[in-house]
Amino acid sequence: MQDDYNIEKIFEQIENDLISSMKRTLWSHKEDEKTKGFNWPQWQALKLKQLEDFRKNNQEIFKNYNQDIKYATKIQMKKQFREGASRTNKQAIKAGKIKKKDSQLSGSFFGLNDRKIKALMKSTTKDINDVKYATLRMANDQYRQIIYKAEVYANTGAKTVQQAIDMATKDFLAKGFNCIEYSNGSRHNIADYCDMAIRTANKRANLMGEGEMRKKLGNPFVYISKHSGACDKCSPWQGRVYIDDVWSGGKKEDGKYPLLSTAIEGGLFHPRCEHGSSTYYPDINEEPKEVTQALNNKHEDEYTQALQRQKRQYERLALGSLLPENVLTYQNKANELQKQIESSKMEDKEDVRQYTPATLVEKLNIDLEDYKPFGKYDPFENNIQEKTSKLLNMNNLPQLVNKEQYKRIDGKEIIRVLHSYHGKTAQEAYENTIRGTIQYSESIRSSYGRGIYFGENDIENDLLSLYGKTDNKVIKAKIDNNAKILEFDKQFDYLKDVEERLNKIPKNLRNFYKNERSLLYMLDGIDGIKIKSKGYYCIYNRGVLIINV
Ligand SMILES: [Zn+2]
Repeated sequence: MQDDYNIEKIFEQIENDLISSMKRTLWSHKEDEKTKGFNWPQWQALKLKQLEDFRKNNQEIFKNYNQDIKYATKIQMKKQFREGASRTNKQAIKAGKIKKKDSQLSGSFFGLNDRKIKALMKSTTKDINDVKYATLRMANDQYRQIIYKAEVYANTGAKTVQQAIDMATKDFLAKGFNCIEYSNGSRHNIADYCDMAIRTANKRANLMGEGEMRKKLGNPFVYISKHSGACDKCSPWQGRVYIDDVWSGGKKEDGKYPLLSTAIEGGLFHPRCEHGSSTYYPDINEEPKEVTQALNNKHEDEYTQALQRQKRQYERLALGSLLPENVLTYQNKANELQKQIESSKMEDKEDVRQYTPATLVEKLNIDLEDYKPFGKYDPFENNIQEKTSKLLNMNNLPQLVNKEQYKRIDGKEIIRVLHSYHGKTAQEAYENTIRGTIQYSESIRSSYGRGIYFGENDIENDLLSLYGKTDNKVIKAKIDNNAKILEFDKQFDYLKDVEERLNKIPKNLRNFYKNERSLLYMLDGIDGIKIKSKGYYCIYNRGVLIINV
């Protein structure tokens, strides 16, 4: 993005002028004097009197640059908006989407968008004004401090008054007007900060112009340019196609691509970002290499890693937030990101499905000779089934919905009764089931294998009397329609099925899988089983559950 008006230079000039003004006010004597015998209180009183002049003078300095600042903040942004819109319009003509005579760049287009541009300008002007007031305040504060500090330096070794003043101003001059404090406590220089604020605003205006034009053209897809040496913040996001839900009015349902808002939250278009976007026409443009590559990539690329970090962030927010609506919003964000992670690794998932009982044992690094269900390879200690669920992408979190959404989902309700166990309260066990790391029933002797046990709604009373105790918590859930649930009439049928599956695998693996029998079903992509006579469910994949929280 070109900018012929350099706000950084303007603010550097303002900073210089303010410093000169301070220097003039602090020392107006023609000749320097020795500190010894110098009347400091009298000098300080005089300097305080001159503070009012100093203040006025500083305001004048800002006034002198008003026009320049206005140009840099307002006119530039308008220009950027036009530039973005017209570039997008040109691309559409070039792509054959519209004819040149049907150019969308009419006066009414800008008229309609005037209010949006103005709102953007207003917030930038406010930013710049805040900087102005912070700067003026700092000039006053520093001036006051310096006239007292000078006396301190005179008493501790400065020989002349000028020398004492120089020592007193040194720290301030070295740092300059670093009066912008970020929420993390770091301080920023005004020139630096304003430059960043204006560039960011100009970029927004440009993207907004592009977006408004894309809305008109009815195509919300954007391609984020790629350049070498991109910073860490945005390199994971470059070279990809997105649905622009920020400026172009795109929605998740518009296509298979991720949302641009996700990339922006993850760091794309950070201050001073050099990246730009262009319209992507799925039927005309070739799919970028990165998109195709990601689908075939075995290991996580940096894009997926960035999504993972973001997901983790929302998981922490969901865990630590107090208001239920916040928890829900964050949890859904995390789930949405998980879906994006999965769709970015589709091929990878196919590979995972190809585990056989033998390759799974290999992957889990299990020594079959040494394997004992309660020995060295205690299933709970070693989390064999939990590890497997990760390998098979079955460790997703349940989908959490509010009461209204839950009501609208059809499907039978199932319930889980939790009680305090292993030093965990029922509430903690509940939290873990819906938001924590996946954990299956502990005992390998569980009647229907290890899993997350649920029961049909009508056996709620039985379950409560069995597991309720005093401290209990009930989870109500519905099972996703796409879930693969294998149903058995009776427990006997389940055991027979296990036996048959065991007979199909190599002999040396049988002892292991006999004890870890749920793995046999998971390897087949089965999300859970149901024993109809009992009304019991043993769920392997939490991701198929929809829970009302
Ligand atoms: Zn960038």
